[in-house]
Amino acid sequence: MSPAPPPAIPRPVAAVRLDGGRLCLDFVNTIHDRYAADAEDYVQDPQRFIAWSGRTGALHPDDGVREPRTAQKRAALMREVAALREHLHALFAARIDGQTPPAEAVRGLDRWLHRAWASQSLGADGHMHWRADARDALLPLKRIALDALDLLGDPDVSRLRRCANVTSCGWLFLDTSKNRRRRWCAMETCGTAEKMQRYRRG
Ligand SMILES: [Zn+2]
Repeated sequence: MSPAPPPAIPRPVAAVRLDGGRLCLDFVNTIHDRYAADAEDYVQDPQRFIAWSGRTGALHPDDGVREPRTAQKRAALMREVAALREHLHALFAARIDGQTPPAEAVRGLDRWLHRAWASQSLGADGHMHWRADARDALLPLKRIALDALDLLGDPDVSRLRRCANVTSCGWLFLDTSKNRRRRWCAMETCGTAEKMQRYRRG
């Protein structure tokens, strides 16, 4: 059996799986089959990135954020999306493998954390609020960076796993199962594919 060809029409953002268990992990998982020859990027243009951000809570309905208008700003946004995603993947992969994270990835997240902190002001209510001039298409990346920091410092980070389908998938997730034996990003996708392969080999 030959593998199915990649879909001609990109899958709707509403149909993208969110199996990571946290915003920052779902962001890393916006690459479908990271290790496949032709990986599908769920957020390959600003419109899809904004739609995905709205769906995952990286943008809130009252943020009123729209995609950038100029080609230059659109291209710059997509470069930032791809770079932060790779930095986070490198940081989390290092944590899973018990290795020191690449310095470039640490610097990459550090930069976004400082951008996120500089974009907020303390309100009279004692809470930090996003400033009006921060409500642009980069805001999701700031929320994602803050979520990543939160996870890296949380005891829950010991539950961070990589999908056992390492030949293609590469998705990361938090194993919140009681016995801590979750192996797949999702049983319906990678778990089933494995079972089918075993059946065929059998
Ligand atoms: Zn998987």
